[in-house]
Amino acid sequence: MLIVLDPQISPAQRSAIDETIRAAGCSIAEMPSRRGLLLLVDGDLDRLRQVPLKVFAGVSKVVGLSKPYALNSREHQAEPNVVKVGDARIGGGSLTVIGGPCAVEDRETLLAIANEVKASGANLLRGGAYKPRTSPYSFRGLGLEGLLMLRDVGLETGLPTVSEITDPRHIEACVSNVDMVQVGTRNMSNFDLLVEIGKSGHPVLLKRGRSATIADWLLAAEYILAQGNPNVVLCERGIRGFDPAMRNTLDLAAIPAIQARSHLPIIIDPSHATGVSAYVPALARAAIAAGADGVIIETHTDPTRARSDADQAMLPADFRDLCEDLRLMHRVANRSIDA
Ligand code: PEP
Ligand code: MN
Repeated sequence: MLIVLDPQISPAQRSAIDETIRAAGCSIAEMPSRRGLLLLVDGDLDRLRQVPLKVFAGVSKVVGLSKPYALNSREHQAEPNVVKVGDARIGGGSLTVIGGPCAVEDRETLLAIANEVKASGANLLRGGAYKPRTSPYSFRGLGLEGLLMLRDVGLETGLPTVSEITDPRHIEACVSNVDMVQVGTRNMSNFDLLVEIGKSGHPVLLKRGRSATIADWLLAAEYILAQGNPNVVLCERGIRGFDPAMRNTLDLAAIPAIQARSHLPIIIDPSHATGVSAYVPALARAAIAAGADGVIIETHTDPTRARSDADQAMLPADFRDLCEDLRLMHRVANRSIDA
C-alpha cells in the first residue's frame, strides 16, 4: 500500500498515522517523490484496509494497489513517466531511436558510427564497454577505456550515451561517464546492482530477463524506483523461445501489457530479438506501430570487422532508411499524419 502525505502535515498528524499503521502490524518505508513524501506500507494489509486511513489529517491519497510493483504501477501514477537523458526525453508520446555498435571497439570506428547515427536523426548513441558474454572466450569489451571513448564521442557528436553496467563496483565509472546505464538481460535479476543504480538516481534502461515474466520485470524495475530513482525505461529484447532460426522471440504483446500496468516508458530492441540484421526493420516498424516509445538498434560501419554481434549489425544506409520509416510510422500510430 502507498500513502501520499500532505506536504503540510504536522508532526502530531504524522505520529498518529505511523502509530495506526504499526498497530495494524505493518511496516513503513519512507520515500521522497515528486508528489510529496510517500509511505510504502507492507505487512498485514488486509487488517490495515479496515482502517479509514484516507480520512486521517495529513493524508492526501491512499493507493490500495492490487499489484506488488507499487511505484511503477498505473494505480499510483496514471500519466506516463518521461525520462530525461541528456537533451533527450524518453516516453510521453515522443519517438526515441537509440543507435550504435554492440561494443565500443576503437575511437575511430565509434566516431564514424556515431556520425552516421547522428545524421540519421537518432537521439542517443549506444556502445557496450562492459560486455557480458555467454562464452568467457568472446570479446568482453574495453572496460573503462571504452566508456571514456563513448563519453568523448558522445560529447563530440552531441549525442547522449547509453552503455551497459554489469557490476555494482562500476557504478561510479558508469554514472560519471555515460548519460544512461543499461542493465542487460543477464543482469535483470542482479538485485544488488539494481539497488545501487537506484541509489545513484541515474537514468537506466532495464532490459527484460530472457525468461522473465512481465511481473518479474516490473518487480526488478521496482527495486530501482524503491531507492528513489524514477528514471527507468523498460526494454523488451526478446525472450527465450524454442526455435534456433531466431536468436530470441520478440514479445510485442509486452508493449500493451506493460502500458496497461505501468507508467514507465517501454522501448524495443529488435537487434538482440532476432540476431539477423535483415529482420530488424520489420520488427522495429511493428514495435512503433504497436505503441512502443522507441527502439534500440545495433549498427556498424563495417560489420565484417565487428567484434561482437556482427550478424545483427545494420549498415548505416539501411539504418538511415529505417529511421525515416520509423518517424513516419510514429506519426501514423499517433494519428497525426496529414490526410
Ligand atoms: C547489448 O545490448 O549489447 C546486450 C548484451 O543486450 P542483451 O542484454 O539484451 O543481450
Ligand atoms: Mn549486442
